[in-house]
Amino acid sequence: MPVNTDAYHKIKNELNECVHLIAVSKTKPEEDILELYNIGQRDFGENYVQELVDKYGQLPKDIQWHFIGHLQSNKVKYIAPFVSLIQSVDSFRLLREINKQAQKHQRKINCLLQLHIAIEESKFGMDKDEIMQVINDSESLLNINISGLMGMASFTPDLEKVRNEFKTLKMLFQEIQKIKKSNCNISILSMGMSADYKMALEEGSNMVRIGSLLFGERTKL
Ligand SMILES: *Cc1c(COP(=O)(O)O)cnc(C)c1O
Repeated sequence: MPVNTDAYHKIKNELNECVHLIAVSKTKPEEDILELYNIGQRDFGENYVQELVDKYGQLPKDIQWHFIGHLQSNKVKYIAPFVSLIQSVDSFRLLREINKQAQKHQRKINCLLQLHIAIEESKFGMDKDEIMQVINDSESLLNINISGLMGMASFTPDLEKVRNEFKTLKMLFQEIQKIKKSNCNISILSMGMSADYKMALEEGSNMVRIGSLLFGERTKL
């Protein structure tokens, strides 16, 4: 399936300057990524460590790679040298490992904490109390920067439900913005995918993660 560059331009036009578009390229070939790269896209999102490492090796080095899938602690080391933003931090243990690997490479890795908002959908993410706890416990981790929150809404035709999930994310985002810690600078609210990004924008998203509208449907998630 060809890359939908018309959709790309259309979406870019809909986003105001403070909203970042992450092109979710998981399962898609490098040619497809280059096609968007050549018309100016630099931020790409991937869900699988090996696939990301391979693509990083093959593609231009000024691409900003976002890791958005479930990340196992033992695989952090493979992406730590180059990843730009890990959006799917779902435990303190994972954050500690990211810190350790970042330290090895003498860098700081930006992270988003993933809120589990869609009750029936995904097993991953933390509830509000866990997020507060993680922020509290992570003060001594000097090689990470907690930059915000990520969430995936329910996959449902019930739009009110989706809207309420986005509102929940936005409320927690505003709450943790008030926290003052040296490694916690909350500015990113990553919510909205192909099916629901317009609603996410209405509810205050400043980072949307769009895959199938740009690259076509995938055979696996
Ligand atoms: C796959 C994925 C997306 C993109 O989904 P589309 O519906 O194809 O836009 C966004 N966020 C996460 C976390 C994903 O896993």
